Amino acid sequence: MERGEKDRYLTPSERFFVLMLLKWFEENRREYPWRKTHDPYRVLIAELMLQRTKADQVRGVYLKFLEEFPDIYSIYKAPEDRIEKYFSQLGLKWRTSKVKELARVLVEKYNGNIPCSKEDLLSLPGIGDYISSAVLSFACGIPVPVVDANVVRVITRYFGIKPKGEGRRDPEVHHMAYRLLPPERHREFNWAILDFGAKVCLPRKPLCQNCPLAKYCVYQNQKNLECFDFYFSSGVHE
Ligand code: SF4
Repeated sequence: MERGEKDRYLTPSERFFVLMLLKWFEENRREYPWRKTHDPYRVLIAELMLQRTKADQVRGVYLKFLEEFPDIYSIYKAPEDRIEKYFSQLGLKWRTSKVKELARVLVEKYNGNIPCSKEDLLSLPGIGDYISSAVLSFACGIPVPVVDANVVRVITRYFGIKPKGEGRRDPEVHHMAYRLLPPERHREFNWAILDFGAKVCLPRKPLCQNCPLAKYCVYQNQKNLECFDFYFSSGVHE
């Protein structure tokens, strides 16, 4: 844990979660070109392409897109069909006009810069809570959690939270995501939960047997208790 972490109050189970996740990430991190940059433009383009797509699919399209469109001005000036060519390869054709509109606002209102404020980001066309948080953490260096379906799944299972309605908007999930986030290592921690949800805490069959978080995970411990109850109520121990 970085300097300053010892002053942050976390319960043993929360501290275990943070430590184990960061340790797991050191050995299992996924490498992507958009993780090697702090450039807000490059981070923003990656996040626009990563919505509802698989990260491995995005890599090649993303790099080619950046060759043709190295900055927001190049998108601003380009005809829409040039942009569409890339986004349609990812099944995101519908997003093209939003990207053009986004470039127009960024050029005309922000001189081609990507703002590093949540309020400004959320006012931009096509930018919601997830993308704004990703830009703030990954590009601007501001410690905010990113909360997508993977993150919701890991947090709700481990802490036994039952979201009311959509997990990504649940205040308890967001509160916990903020609590856990180590300010000095927020980028790694955000990537760690995203990768962990994609590789270990899978939607249908989580790999609980080999999970470094299993010791304190409510979901896993409840499963064990159910097996235990079944064992004694079914007579298999007799
Ligand atoms: S023990 Fe299972 S449910 Fe709990 S965090 Fe690990 S993979 Fe997810």
